[in-house]
Amino acid sequence: MALIVQKFGGTSVASTDRIKNVAKRVARWRAQGHDIILVPSAMAGETNRLIGLAREISPAPDPRELDVIASTGEQVTIGLLAMAMHAEGLKAKSFTGFQVGVLTDSTFTKARILKIDQHRIRKALADGHVVVVAGFQGADEHGNITTLGRGGSDTSAVALAAAMKADECQIYTDVDGVYTTDPRVVPEARKLDNITFEEMLEMASLGSKVLQIRSVEFAGKYKVKLRVLSSFEEEGEGTLITVEEKGNMEQPIISGIAFNRDEAKLTVLGVPDRPGIAYQILGPIADANIDVDMIIQNIGRDDTTDFSFTVNRTDYGKALAILETVKERIGARDITGDTTICKVSAVGVGMRSHPGVASKMFGALAKENINLQMISTSEIKISVVIEERYLELAVRVLHKAFGLEKPPKSKLGLTGRGETDIITPS
Ligand code: ADP
Ligand code: ASP
Ligand code: MG
Repeated sequence: MALIVQKFGGTSVASTDRIKNVAKRVARWRAQGHDIILVPSAMAGETNRLIGLAREISPAPDPRELDVIASTGEQVTIGLLAMAMHAEGLKAKSFTGFQVGVLTDSTFTKARILKIDQHRIRKALADGHVVVVAGFQGADEHGNITTLGRGGSDTSAVALAAAMKADECQIYTDVDGVYTTDPRVVPEARKLDNITFEEMLEMASLGSKVLQIRSVEFAGKYKVKLRVLSSFEEEGEGTLITVEEKGNMEQPIISGIAFNRDEAKLTVLGVPDRPGIAYQILGPIADANIDVDMIIQNIGRDDTTDFSFTVNRTDYGKALAILETVKERIGARDITGDTTICKVSAVGVGMRSHPGVASKMFGALAKENINLQMISTSEIKISVVIEERYLELAVRVLHKAFGLEKPPKSKLGLTGRGETDIITPS
């Protein structure tokens, strides 16, 4: 008997029929004696609808009130799921994040989980209930409702699994695992049996929305056994997120291609080339809570230089307004911006021991005449900023250049078999 946290994403609970299917599936797990904590998202499209309603009242909704509104989608699915399980003859109880003590900080719309109180969940489990906890939401120390950022139900599930010391956290979604790239963009993409935490972290942070980045961080930190699976297929072991095995010579050099269309580029032109200038530009951006991603400073000429960086597209207008004031202060010549860019990245821990990955990547993109506007590298990833209209082409070309559609030579995998064994309902 195991304690399993199962998260079902929006498409998996998109209709009452699908919710009934989830309940049937859970009934089979219960019949095997497993304890189950279910963490659903809102029904597909619902969170967008709710945010849209708020924007009809105000184009820049008050974040506290926005969270009150956006969090309600999950409250509907927990109730429906509990009822669907009653119909299957199961004992089940639904709880909001607040009710089970999901304590977060007060950063509305992207709050961080600080603590989860296990007592209420433990009691409900001990009473024989399937416990259904609303994903995406918590409450701060003052009892304000908070949400965890888009895709945050993944993080709710992993955090609950960590707090409850669950045997496994299963993320059920509309694909049957983590692929070498988004299978909707490259149909030849291949499902990975395993991916390391490090790689998954990079993939998530570089735009692969199959798992929210914080869920991967949590899983790595608290050693949660994390698996991505299909909510529509009963067969298959999905993808297990694993700890890297040192010295595995068979590791592929590149594990996947990630992309992100949500970025925008800002450039400050004719910046005086003197110490402290980067701080003067980026300080006010950071003070406004805007995350900066890639940064590039050109070589100075005639005592001036150009300074570019990227931010999330939702922060573009705010960042531009800040730069206008910075421009006056530092005496820069002009500000330009571009919201039609995207970022494409190649990720792989095998890159560490294999030189030449960057040149292969740049060569493949050059062949298609795709101009690289920005480049950034780390030990296990290379990212480029390109024009958005080339996104699909770039992803396809890179996927092919690194031979990702073909299975790796050895199927030794990254972990031993014992660790990949899935807990099955039958
Ligand atoms: P859910 O609503 O279940 O949370 P999401 O839409 O957030 O589902 O995430 C699943 C989607 O992530 C898939 O439908 C797929 O299009 C996308 N995706 C992006 N990159 C990948 C990848 N490398 N592997 C699998 N899916 C990916
Ligand atoms: N419902 C929330 C969203 O759409 C959280 C989630 O789906 O994980 O972002
Ligand atoms: Mg998601």
